[in-house]
Amino acid sequence: MRSIETDLREIITEKDALHIDEPMKRHTTFGVGGRADIFIDVSIDELASVMACLRRHEIPVTVVGNGSNLLVSDSGIRGAVLCIGRRINRTEVKKDQDNAMISCQAGALLPRVAMMAADQALSGLEFAAGIPGTIGGAVYMNAGAFGGDMSEIVSSVTTITEDGEIKDYSACQVGFGYRKSIFSEKNEIITGAVLSLRPGDPSEIRERIKSICDKRKKSQPTGARSAGSTFRKAGDGDLISDLTPAWRLIQQAGMKDARVGGALVSPKHSGFVVNDGSATAGDIYQLICAIRERVKEETGVELEPEVKLLGEF
Ligand SMILES: Cc1cc2nc3c(=O)[nH]c(=O)nc-3n(C[C@H](O)[C@H](O)[C@H](O)COP(=O)(O)OP(=O)(O)OC[C@H]3O[C@@H](n4cnc5c(N)ncnc54)[C@H](O)[C@@H]3O)c2cc1C
Repeated sequence: MRSIETDLREIITEKDALHIDEPMKRHTTFGVGGRADIFIDVSIDELASVMACLRRHEIPVTVVGNGSNLLVSDSGIRGAVLCIGRRINRTEVKKDQDNAMISCQAGALLPRVAMMAADQALSGLEFAAGIPGTIGGAVYMNAGAFGGDMSEIVSSVTTITEDGEIKDYSACQVGFGYRKSIFSEKNEIITGAVLSLRPGDPSEIRERIKSICDKRKKSQPTGARSAGSTFRKAGDGDLISDLTPAWRLIQQAGMKDARVGGALVSPKHSGFVVNDGSATAGDIYQLICAIRERVKEETGVELEPEVKLLGEF
């Protein structure tokens, strides 16, 4: 029988798009994570054939975007990691008298799309300028900040199923809630989304982007290795204003200076676990567990991680 690598190399012709035994720390903003058996920086034209090939060989598939919300285990990921990123990142602006849309492939990065929207005098995506994820990851997570989130601007989403079927979802079918969408329950890969924006003044839009990025720099460890907010806000319901920020509970529980190995609670923002450069995924995981345990003991609240854990812990 032909090897999976031989079959994949027939489909993926670009040099540097297919890696065997690839360290995932290269592909996560935490900068940790063991090796993936196979790592594929896939293009849109290759996607269906690559998925069919992996299915034929019975290789499990993990989908990632920019790795900015991931904690990958030190033992890595068995099977194939499909990265919907730099090779699936085209964007197109569509404007007419009534509508202003940006059609994005899923690998386009939010900060780039936000700047592009500003250049095109389109408002609504300012909140996303400092979120280092892809459009696909942002739709999956319903990423948001400073009062805005993806649910407010996504008009439709396109996916591909395991069997290669292309599916379209209107915004109301996406099941957006606080940092969630229907896609966590589906085995589908998001390949693109159409964003619906409104006309605005480019200099005012840029000013809002600058002000949001300045606020972020002041209050968050933007230069450190992290995956953003480590925990979801606590409480029931989807109204963010009714939820309790994790940083407050972490401080109440006396964990603001907690550390395990090279993983620590950021001195700048208690809601962020950061890697000081020497952390393993195990350190980060143990710190997350210790925080959850102490917060539960001290406040009675069960914090849930916002970061997605991949591999075995
Ligand atoms: C410094 C910093 C600041 C951050 N600030 C914010 C913030 O303000 N607000 C916020 O919401 N988040 C924030 N984040 C977290 C993160 O950037 C977002 O969750 C982002 O949406 C993740 O996108 P990604 O492409 O990196 O996805 P990944 O981290 O690669 O993946 C996240 C999840 O989405 C799934 N996924 C990714 N792409 C696809 C796809 N194409 N199809 C199907 N599933 C997919 C993955 O399987 C995984 O379960 C921050 C992170 C960092 C490092």
